[in-house]
Amino acid sequence: MIFSQKVSLVTGASQGIGEAIAEELGKEGATVILVDIQKDKLEQVAKRLSDQGIKALPYEADVTHFDQVCAVTEAVVKELGKIDHLVNNAGITRDSLLLRMKEEDWDLVLAVNLKGAFNFSRAVLKHMISARYGRIVNISSVVGLMGNFGQTNYAASKAGLIGFSKSLAREVAARGITVNCVAPGYIATPMTEKLPDEVKKAFLEIIPMKRFGLPVEVARAVKFLCSDDAAYITGQVINVNGGMYM
Ligand code: NAP
Repeated sequence: MIFSQKVSLVTGASQGIGEAIAEELGKEGATVILVDIQKDKLEQVAKRLSDQGIKALPYEADVTHFDQVCAVTEAVVKELGKIDHLVNNAGITRDSLLLRMKEEDWDLVLAVNLKGAFNFSRAVLKHMISARYGRIVNISSVVGLMGNFGQTNYAASKAGLIGFSKSLAREVAARGITVNCVAPGYIATPMTEKLPDEVKKAFLEIIPMKRFGLPVEVARAVKFLCSDDAAYITGQVINVNGGMYM
């Protein structure tokens, strides 16, 4: 197992892609810290992973609140001594055309998707710097690269994550820390399940592989970026999108 003795913190871990990432890292021996806003869902996932022999610890926190993020980080470091992998995965959508977009929907999407990554990176980084080791993986989106009708807020947050990651990668490269993005295409999760059938059909038409991606297919890219095989890769974006954007 490649992550024995490693500690991996995954945000938005109680369903979808985040849950799959936690499972994939945990199956490689990492102790996984599951962070999400809904305690019940988190505890169910922690139990499901523990039943597979994975050491999974649930921590309830809203990634938009820096005080909660710092409290989780300090509690984990106190208990386990370090955080080796940080996966900023928590994300939301609040879609509408810009002309109709409410200011609160702009602010919330940017707060969860972009500021959430700032908050956790800011809190965890000092421990990674002391350890002279770390892997930060930010979950962006194909929409951050190509744009999407009705998603100016989401696209701005996901494109922002790419600029954030490249800048932070430059700041910490000499400290043994890599910072990369994974940009999923259309992945079958609760987030996409709620889209209307005609939108799903339109997406399928522009995906050369003619199918939606699976959460585990994103999780495997994250696993690679956290592994020693990716030690010399930083400031990059790995697309996991079935060829939807090349
Ligand atoms: P999901 O099924 O909606 O899961 C996201 C998780 O994040 C949920 O458990 C959600 O909790 C949690 N969350 C929301 N706000 C939070 C907050 N403030 N603090 C902590 N946790 C919070 O989404 P997904 O499809 O797995 O997507 C995961 C990531 O991949 C997101 O960043 C998304 O933008 C990105 N992505 C997804 C796709 C796709 O096709 N699915 C494509 C590209 C990128 P609640 O359910 O309680 O809100």
